Amino acid sequence: MCSKANSCSTTCKTMTTCAISPPVLKSKETARIVIIGSGPSGIAAATRLIEQGFKNVRILEAENRIGGRINSIEYADSIVDLGAQWCHGETGNVVYERMKDLNVLQKTGDIADVVRFVRSDKANLSEETVNKLMKIALGSLPGENVPAFNGSLGDYVTKKYWEEVDKLENVDRALASELLQNFLNFECSVEGSDHLFEVSGRGHLEFVESGGDNSVHWCNKGYKTFLRVLMNSKPDDPNDLGVLNGHVELNKRIVEINWQGTNEVHLRTWNGELVTADHVICTVSLGVLKEQHEKLFIPALPEAKLRAINALKLGTVDKFLLEYTNEQPMPKDWPSVNFLWREQDLQELRGTKRFWLESVGYFHIVLCQPRLLEGWIIGEHARYMETLPEEEVLEGLQWLFRKFLPFDMPQPKSFLRTQWHSNPNFRGSYSYRTTYADALRTGPWDLESPLGDVSGKPRLQFAGEASSKTHYSTVHGATETGWREADRLNAYYSRDSPSK
Ligand SMILES: Cc1cc2nc3c(=O)[nH]c(=O)nc-3n(C[C@H](O)[C@H](O)[C@H](O)COP(=O)(O)OP(=O)(O)OC[C@H]3O[C@@H](n4cnc5c(N)ncnc54)[C@H](O)[C@@H]3O)c2cc1C
Repeated sequence: MCSKANSCSTTCKTMTTCAISPPVLKSKETARIVIIGSGPSGIAAATRLIEQGFKNVRILEAENRIGGRINSIEYADSIVDLGAQWCHGETGNVVYERMKDLNVLQKTGDIADVVRFVRSDKANLSEETVNKLMKIALGSLPGENVPAFNGSLGDYVTKKYWEEVDKLENVDRALASELLQNFLNFECSVEGSDHLFEVSGRGHLEFVESGGDNSVHWCNKGYKTFLRVLMNSKPDDPNDLGVLNGHVELNKRIVEINWQGTNEVHLRTWNGELVTADHVICTVSLGVLKEQHEKLFIPALPEAKLRAINALKLGTVDKFLLEYTNEQPMPKDWPSVNFLWREQDLQELRGTKRFWLESVGYFHIVLCQPRLLEGWIIGEHARYMETLPEEEVLEGLQWLFRKFLPFDMPQPKSFLRTQWHSNPNFRGSYSYRTTYADALRTGPWDLESPLGDVSGKPRLQFAGEASSKTHYSTVHGATETGWREADRLNAYYSRDSPSK
């Protein structure tokens, strides 16, 4: 029986017994804070709140592990990342800032610039041909000096690309078109979009790129290292959650968040457990919000937030990991290979059961993992691929290699593919701003805005990568949003006013 609000922080028998708890003055010692989700934003929020002196902080996580879209697992010779893999940049990046002196991160450097392009008739394009067209493709992306514009990134890039290609003499337009398609596919894997024609050009320009190497990697340690540093986990104990020991509960999927009234917020887990909080920080992905908001929130969320949830998007980007018995089989001077579909081959492919291979853009070596190759697939075809049996996916990839590569590829020893969209706790990979969101004048700022009472007390807060205005889709962005919401609560509890 919950006779006092303070004793209600664990499990209550019914929602009504919790709901009648009288409002009491709260402090950092007594305020009950529930964070939904243990991805980087949830862990960043929890660790900072504890640092700031909050005592009653709980993370409720649906999965049986922490980390969210950071999922570093043991595979082949060490660790691989099924989700976030690179720290994108060295300046203006809170992940790099926190890690740079710990001797963990390594630069990728020039290796990312060496790219092979092969056509579906096995023709390996000369560097000269590729460099000319790739330079134009890269130059077609709107940069810092381009003023904000309406319309899609895809329209902008395509127009600029052809304007420049048309200035070349003796250009093979079929080849130029294949290379553009591959480039658009690559950019989709960066943006997380199905195609670039729904990605907001304005949103792309408002994303703030971090300086320096954009593919700094974790070698054989995995992105989870960052979370361990945030939590201050013991280096020799892989299960130690550091300052979060005793604060994280796994397998606790929240199915209802009742934020009615002005006082406590009541949550219900999938198995009927009731939890009461004074403040809730919801960090679930945009995909989860899209799919579940109608059932999850009582009462319904305000119109502005719904507009953002509906108009922003979470695309699907999946990975393939192939482990070989000895070293990976591509030649030493092929650190990565991009696939260019000739028009007639593409039309043929589209009539077969392997149509989804159209959206596999490229494969590359994995630094510090000499026996691995990693490949990428985007969009609708990634979602379809997720539904296929693993053997069928691998068989498709082996067919793709035979079709494109002028050398033999052995059968891999083992194979992994990700399924970020099929998992109901994610429903996709990372978010992007759409032209539709521009039209509705909504964006991450509407996702961010907390729901509070008239006194300014935040009751239901939102963090997570999609709520970042300048670093959405990244771990550093997600981390910043967790800190942002912790600081919001800290500012509230640091006010002079005696009543909270
Ligand atoms: C394939 C892939 C590659 C990526 N590569 C990079 C990269 O190289 N660099 C980079 O910076 N970023 C990358 N990202 C993006 C990055 O992983 C995300 O931006 C970041 O992890 C998002 O963190 P978050 O805390 O916002 O959300 P999440 O990590 O999704 O955390 C949310 C948590 O909420 C939990 N949850 C969901 N629903 C419920 C519920 N009802 N109840 C309780 N818990 C719930 C989830 O299980 C999850 O643990 C990649 C992502 C993917 C998928």
